[in-house]
Amino acid sequence: MREEAAVLDILQIPVLQDNYIYLAHDPVTRATAAVDPAEAAPVLAALDANGWTLTHILNTHHHWDHVGGNLTLKRETRCLVFGAERDRNDIPGLDVGLNEGDMVELGRSRAQVLAVPGHTQGHIAYWFRDDLALFCGDTLFAMGCGRLLGGTAEQMWHSLDRLRALPPDTRLYCAHEYTQTNGRFAVTLEPENPALTRRMEQVDEARRQGRPTVPSKLGEELATNPFLRPESAELQRTLGLEGAAPVRVFAEVRRRKDAFR
Ligand SMILES: [Zn+2]
Repeated sequence: MREEAAVLDILQIPVLQDNYIYLAHDPVTRATAAVDPAEAAPVLAALDANGWTLTHILNTHHHWDHVGGNLTLKRETRCLVFGAERDRNDIPGLDVGLNEGDMVELGRSRAQVLAVPGHTQGHIAYWFRDDLALFCGDTLFAMGCGRLLGGTAEQMWHSLDRLRALPPDTRLYCAHEYTQTNGRFAVTLEPENPALTRRMEQVDEARRQGRPTVPSKLGEELATNPFLRPESAELQRTLGLEGAAPVRVFAEVRRRKDAFR
């Protein structure tokens, strides 16, 4: 017999300037994970408000605005901290070191660990297949991708190329609200892309109303995110890279985004 597909309730907590922490909760087993808890206090407040108890911390990488709440949450809740084995010395309180292909059980749900280096060398993503939910940290953003702070363009392209092969209905729970700036940049590369124009109108409207633009669906990203679209003829034309290899186009988009203000 097949299990019911979606298991998790997912709660989004905006913190700091533009970070998102996520709580993923299985209402039957009551297992609850905090993904990339930048701070402890907002997580404790949300747990309290919902009557949930934290069982897991899932870190995607070691940057301070993703792990800042680890030690306080661990002390207060006795949860287990999961993160890349490679980041063992950089993730505070790490209990379970993860590698590519490992599975993390969260109540009735399971996440597959995907190694996605590029933003950092040890960056991982958590792919909850049955829930069609991907927690991708600072690797893939709505209409953007993470900066190359520890890895190469080749690594990042390989990581994004893997992520873009997931089902188009996958929801992308990324760690920052960068969508509007990302979109403004994307429009300079593909001004004639109707899906992009339409999406920017929706994003501008959402931001005017103070609503989040995250999570997005992978299908939307495939149609509008320049970092996933190196095969786009218009994009290649703008960059003067007609017929170039995807990794070369990706690297140029990343280089231009770094300089975009
Ligand atoms: Zn980061």
